[in-house]
Amino acid sequence: MKFIFVCPKQNRVFESADFRILDNRGVIRDTAGNKALDAKLALNEPCPFCSEKHVYHATELQCPFPGLDRIEEG
Ligand SMILES: [Zn+2]
Repeated sequence: MKFIFVCPKQNRVFESADFRILDNRGVIRDTAGNKALDAKLALNEPCPFCSEKHVYHATELQCPFPGLDRIEEG
């Protein structure tokens, strides 16, 4: 599955399916009651714009993390 990432240096969007999940603490709810995944995603391949391997918090990503409801049930 490809996710959409934003380069924080150039503020440009790219897609990548080559990432790994770090610090996965599962699903949390924010103060507004929205579900979010408390985890970090680290790119395995360099950013196409600045060549850094960015790390994002899951809540920064533009796509909702797939299968949140299923994770919470499990
Ligand atoms: Zn970048």
